[in-house]
Amino acid sequence: MPAKPRSLIVGNWKMNGLRSSLVEIAHMARGYDSKLRRACEFIVCPPATLVYFAAKEALGSHIGIGAQDCHIEASGAFTGEVSAEMLADSGATTVIVGHSERRSYSAETDGDVKSKALAALRAGLMPIICVGETNSDREGGHTLAVIKRQLSGSVPGSADSETLVVAYEPIWAIGTGLTPTLADIAEVHRFIHRELNAILGSHGAALRRVLYGGSVKPSNAREILALEHVDGALVGGASLKAEDFLAIARAAPAPH
Ligand code: PEP
Repeated sequence: MPAKPRSLIVGNWKMNGLRSSLVEIAHMARGYDSKLRRACEFIVCPPATLVYFAAKEALGSHIGIGAQDCHIEASGAFTGEVSAEMLADSGATTVIVGHSERRSYSAETDGDVKSKALAALRAGLMPIICVGETNSDREGGHTLAVIKRQLSGSVPGSADSETLVVAYEPIWAIGTGLTPTLADIAEVHRFIHRELNAILGSHGAALRRVLYGGSVKPSNAREILALEHVDGALVGGASLKAEDFLAIARAAPAPH
C-alpha cells in the first residue's frame, strides 16, 4: 500500500455549543499528546460565535480551530454574514464549505461552494469541500456521477492541492447511524482521488486528503480510517464530547 498522508480528523459541531462547551476543547487539547500528534492532525469547527474563544482555549496545544461556512466576499453590506477573513482574524485555520445541510437548507449550488472555497484560500484558510449523494442517488446507482458533478463544480481547479481537502459525506449516512460498506467507501474515495488528479493535476497528489464523514464513531473509526484512500474523517455528533472525539483520533493508523 502506498504511504498515506497523516490522517486529518475534523469535528463539526454544527449549531451546538455555548461558552460552557469550551471545557471540551480544553479536554481535547490535553488529550492531543505527542503520540496522537504523530498519527493525526486534529481540528475542531465550533459555531462562528465560539471560533475566537476556542482558538484562545486551544492556544499552544496544536489543535486547529475551524469554521463551518463563510461568505464569498471579504466585507460589505451582507447583513448576518461572516467572511473568511473575519474567521481567520478570529483564529480559524480551516473552513468547511458545501456541507450538505447548507446545500440543502440554504440552497447552495456547486458554484457557490467553489466561490466559498476560493474565498477561504484568499483568506489563507484551508477549505474542506463537502460532497455526497442522497439515498435516492445511491439507490438509482448514480453515486459516482453525482460526486463527479459536485467535484467538477465545487473544486477550484487552480487550488494548491495541499491546502484543499475534500470530505465525502453520503447524505443518508449523516446523523443516522448508517454507513456505507467499507468496500463502497473505498471505491468512492479511490474515485475522488482520481477525479481530483484530473481537476488539480497530479502534482502534490500524495499529500491530497479525502476525508470520510457520516456516522463515524469510536466503534467504527478504526476500520474506516485504515482504508486505502481514506485520509481522515469529518465527524459531527461524536465530536461534541472530547472523550469520543479523542477515541476516534486514536483510531487513526500510525503513519508509515
Ligand atoms: C457531519 O455533519 O458532517 C457529520 C458527519 O455528522 P455525523 O458524524 O453526526 O453523521
